[in-house]
Amino acid sequence: MSWEKEWLDNFRKIIVEYHKNRAPDPFMIWFRKKDAEGFFNDAFEKVLTILIDARFDQRTTAKNALQNTVQVIQLGALKREFLSPEELPYLIPRQGMAGERWAALFRSSLQKLHELARIIVSKRNWSASELLALFQNVRVPYLGVKMSRLAVRLLYELIPTLRIDMRDYKIPIDSLVYRVLCRLGILDPYNDVYFGENSPADLKAQSFAKAVFPESPHLLDEPLWATGRQANVGGHCYPKNPNCKGCIFNNICKRKFPYLDPTELGMNTSFKYKRTEGDTAYSRDENFDKKAQFAKFVEELKQKGIRGEEYREKS
Ligand code: SF4
Repeated sequence: MSWEKEWLDNFRKIIVEYHKNRAPDPFMIWFRKKDAEGFFNDAFEKVLTILIDARFDQRTTAKNALQNTVQVIQLGALKREFLSPEELPYLIPRQGMAGERWAALFRSSLQKLHELARIIVSKRNWSASELLALFQNVRVPYLGVKMSRLAVRLLYELIPTLRIDMRDYKIPIDSLVYRVLCRLGILDPYNDVYFGENSPADLKAQSFAKAVFPESPHLLDEPLWATGRQANVGGHCYPKNPNCKGCIFNNICKRKFPYLDPTELGMNTSFKYKRTEGDTAYSRDENFDKKAQFAKFVEELKQKGIRGEEYREKS
């Protein structure tokens, strides 16, 4: 067996083990219990419950998100598209937002959440990419790309009667995932720049995920971002000086760039802080854009099968 194949096999085993041993998600436990008790009247209510919780599950703990979900369901959110401020004046806020505002935003999103749930149950067979496109079209306020992908995973795992083909699922590339993929040696921040969907790093990461788990590339998502988190939430691969002891990838990792943050090199810095004139971020961003445009151009040529000398002639 070649070392590449052996490495991939080991990587695959680590991911499978991770999912076997991971701490149970509080929402999934609650949902399965309620489902077994016959709490939900139909598929619509199941889908809507998942959408509500996925929307709450951002910049907060899964436990807080679940508490909000239970609260709004008790107030009738599965049956009604509108809740008044008197009924729902306050919710456990996500980070950086007041509880009153978080409740107001939920109230104004509820109608769209109902609409989305209705469309989802109107069809039995979906692909992950069709569902994600639908999420983008319906545009529920504060249900962004990451939460949409979480919702797709939850729908797939919790409602098997909805047949979702996960083969074209794309893992969201944020700074945590990007950093871990660089440290593992799968992405090279000098060449594999990330500036959104279909950027060189995105294409490489998605094809790697598909090569490891062709039927279910989504399995890579959580182990990667969980590894890239801070120490106080169980992570290991910090921006600098990662703590490899206890990391799930410890035995196979190439430990690239331990003393610098790969996202500083290869991710568009405008994702991290606002560009302002006079700020040092401004010139860094300009350089990044040039580098990113060139990398995109090279990638397009590669896709067309143009190599070597021809790059220079075309550029
Ligand atoms: S082994 Fe170390 S460098 Fe590799 S992913 Fe884990 S924490 Fe990061």
